[in-house]
Amino acid sequence: MTTQPSDTNLRTDLQSAFNAQRGHASQMALTTAEQRIDRIRQIQQWVNAHEAEIQQAMYDDFRKPSAEVSLGELMALHAEIKHTIRHLKTWMKPQRLPTPMALIGTRSHLIHEPKGNVLIIAPWNYPFVLCIRPLVSALAAGNVAILKPSELTPHTARLIKKMISELFLPEEVVVFEGDAEVSKALLELPFNHIFFTGSPAVGRIVMAAAAKHLASVTLELGGKSPAIIDESADVNQAAGQLAWGKCINNGQTCIAPDYLLVQESVKEPFMQALKASLTTMYSPDGQPVETSASYARIVNKHHFDRIQGLLTDALHKGATVAHGGSVNPDTNFIEPTLLEGITDDMLVMQEEIFGPVLPVLTYINVDDALQVVNKREKPLALYIHSRNRKNIQYILDRSSAGDTVVNDTLLQFGNVELPFGGVNNSGLGKSNGFFSFQEFSNQRGVMQREFGTMKFIYPPYTEKVKKM
Ligand code: NAD
Repeated sequence: MTTQPSDTNLRTDLQSAFNAQRGHASQMALTTAEQRIDRIRQIQQWVNAHEAEIQQAMYDDFRKPSAEVSLGELMALHAEIKHTIRHLKTWMKPQRLPTPMALIGTRSHLIHEPKGNVLIIAPWNYPFVLCIRPLVSALAAGNVAILKPSELTPHTARLIKKMISELFLPEEVVVFEGDAEVSKALLELPFNHIFFTGSPAVGRIVMAAAAKHLASVTLELGGKSPAIIDESADVNQAAGQLAWGKCINNGQTCIAPDYLLVQESVKEPFMQALKASLTTMYSPDGQPVETSASYARIVNKHHFDRIQGLLTDALHKGATVAHGGSVNPDTNFIEPTLLEGITDDMLVMQEEIFGPVLPVLTYINVDDALQVVNKREKPLALYIHSRNRKNIQYILDRSSAGDTVVNDTLLQFGNVELPFGGVNNSGLGKSNGFFSFQEFSNQRGVMQREFGTMKFIYPPYTEKVKKM
């Protein structure tokens, strides 16, 4: 196979950046908590000083409202930074572990050592926070890092590159912009850890590439996250939360409710409340949603066509539009759209929707709702709206999900004390606070003999060894 010159140049650049970082990794490993905190503070200060530029970049990428940049990106990043700065010294301290009687004379502890060379591959939907938050944890753990932001949000990718080149030497942190080809070339390098956020399909590619070097991986993936609304739910409150959770970022949120399972007896009041919430949020004075400054757009034509394809398929197979339904291909606009009459053969029930289209299904017995959830891949999030403790526990005991929020949506990402991430198809490994620090660290066990020795276990073996 002949290699294109540009391909050769790319590989040479990546290899030399990687080599420079590999040479520097041992120095980074020796940095103190103060030195790591200093680097993290520089990110914090840069972000504070360039907030307007960050907001503008995402507006230019997909008309993301500045309030949503503040809420979904910057608040979460600042929370992570503050939490890391506050706790890093404690996280870095060796942790004393108990010693069993048989090993008397030894003592054991756990240390977190940096994994070394890490690669962070980010998606486009929260393009700033999902690239920089893992970097904060990678630096906290003492690693060097290469970042690959998404090519679908080029304004934000360029700004990330600018920030990193102003704050870091390339042997510590460097950014490579570009598409899947750049990603694939990076994945050939022998990183110690790969932190990937994106789709399950690409997650498989990343894991297969990591296997060649036995690199560890954190995979923050996606999938179909359901919300169950039972007969005891506060339907008005649930409707508001789900309308917001579905439509923030134009439905392009990994933990957005992907489909609803509503108990039959509350369907009517719930649907009325859901429609009313969508109207209040995006057309409070009766104006078209398209003119709302609070509503982002689908990131590009490819994704617009994909979601429109899901809609067309559902309508063709008998679904009906209960709310919304209008689109504008010129601006990648899709109105918040509620679908009813949903059947399993529809693509909306097979693929992650990742847009403002919401299938609403009903159930009579909670076991039927659980069956709909459990016959699919384990979701990134499962939402439960209920005021019945027994029901909540019943659902928790009989389902599996990366995270669950009871009586709200999306807020799990905001609590740095909670492990955030998926399970199997929705992800491997967890992020947020200490969980992220752990992902970027090797948990090294250290045992030290203080006195004595265990000569009696050496050959020739005696009865004493057999009876141990
Ligand atoms: P994606 O998987 O298409 O792309 C993610 C990154 O991988 C990009 O940087 C892209 O350039 C790169 N990439 C694409 N194809 C590749 C290939 N063949 N080989 C190597 N790298 C490749 O995902 P996306 O469209 O950017 O993001 C949407 C997906 O991400 C959704 O499934 C969503 O649920 C998920 N997501 C998950 C989380 C989470 O925290 N769990 C957060 C945001 C998004």
